[in-house]
Amino acid sequence: MRYVSTRGGIEPVGFKETVMMGLATDGGLLLPQTLPSVDSTTMETWRNLSYPQLAVEVMSLFVAGLERPDLEALVESACTTFDTPEVTPLIKMPKVNVLELFHGPTLSFKDIALQFLGNLFSLLLKERGETMNILGATSGDTGSAAIYGVKGKENINIFILHPHGRVSSVQALQMTTVPEANVWNVAIEGTFDDCQTVVKAIFNDIPFKQKHRLGAVNSINWARILSQVVYYVYAYLKLNSEAGAERVNFAVPTGNFGDIFAGYVAKRLIPGKIGRLVLATNENNILTRFVHEGRYVRNQVVPTISPSMDIQIASNFERYLYYLFDQDPARVRDTMTAFETGGEITCSLDERSRVRKDFVSASIDQGATLTAIRDVYKETGYVLDPHTAVGVAAVQRLGPDLPEGPVVCLATAHPAKFPEAVRKAIGKNPERPAALRGIEDRPRRCERLPADVDQVKRYIEDHAL
Ligand SMILES: *Cc1c(COP(=O)(O)O)cnc(C)c1O
Repeated sequence: MRYVSTRGGIEPVGFKETVMMGLATDGGLLLPQTLPSVDSTTMETWRNLSYPQLAVEVMSLFVAGLERPDLEALVESACTTFDTPEVTPLIKMPKVNVLELFHGPTLSFKDIALQFLGNLFSLLLKERGETMNILGATSGDTGSAAIYGVKGKENINIFILHPHGRVSSVQALQMTTVPEANVWNVAIEGTFDDCQTVVKAIFNDIPFKQKHRLGAVNSINWARILSQVVYYVYAYLKLNSEAGAERVNFAVPTGNFGDIFAGYVAKRLIPGKIGRLVLATNENNILTRFVHEGRYVRNQVVPTISPSMDIQIASNFERYLYYLFDQDPARVRDTMTAFETGGEITCSLDERSRVRKDFVSASIDQGATLTAIRDVYKETGYVLDPHTAVGVAAVQRLGPDLPEGPVVCLATAHPAKFPEAVRKAIGKNPERPAALRGIEDRPRRCERLPADVDQVKRYIEDHAL
């Protein structure tokens, strides 16, 4: 299998190159030239596999050029950092099924992708005899998951910028209490946007970027999407085996469209088995408006209690457009260029009806999010985090619009990461899992710098590999 750019400006490349390239050099996103699908005979052979075994089977369809023993070792070592051998346990409750994706070291679903990507980067760098300095900005979850993905790896240093005093206290502690010497936290005196501006400016300085072999771990890396395809298949097989479900719907709390795009790839991979993908947004609902009206229009970001979804421009959306536009890269390129200046994308009527065959969507405000946490807690004793609650509330609202079959709500974070919102909803703190106990008492490593490109560059120069 080869990979192409959504904008058509590169020669097809292999899987390993795709991972190292991140963003395509023509500004597009990388995608398989054709999406694979499997038949029911193959699926039967997957039925009783453990999560890591299934991950190897699913991913092997996409990773030509990576040896199978290497893939097995990468998957195995990523999965062992999870606190349960099931990796993504499915919790069945009377009204709702929850797929817990937060059993990794930083308690968000981003660990599933970043534990794998960290190992993969390390292997590919070793093969090439190279080193890399990862640079990124975070508003919370991505930074800690990326740090835990590469901490202690010999051939990688990681620099993560976060806005000083503007990430939750749990998130700041998760990042800054990592003792490994290849981890460099920078608290920027400014907002998340200031952090991103600094990172963008540094990546745009091509000589600096090349000299220090800077790399990124943002959600556009194909390997991140790929690792997330697995749990959709896993949950379907589980519900099919245990409850006889022929078809399963999924609710996905959505920000950058990465997780739900993995759902789309899964839907194509196991035809007929995934009904609809419920695209759940908070007040930042550009994608909900797209599903309802066929227009994708940029707006202002509103801060909410589900901060990892406070996003207006969804960085993976272009991947879906590529398939919606029948794999026509010229049209994607023109559309994205027009969006950069005009701030709007409009679809034809026919495309709109195709969008609605894949997705239904609801935008859930903060009041309804808190109500969902409270209601589920009262009925079952189960505590949702505010991101997961957006998905659960969306399912409740859309119930009648969903095709027959059970719904699986993806639980994207552990509630203990967002204690303030949970307390507001149910009047008490969520229980802390082992990973967070005593975190306040651990030594911290963090440098505080102004939002100044030159000072951050100097800091990187002083500490880069
Ligand atoms: C990142 C994140 C999301 C959004 O995922 P996307 O792939 O960006 O759509 C949702 N919930 C949590 C907890 C996250 O960390």
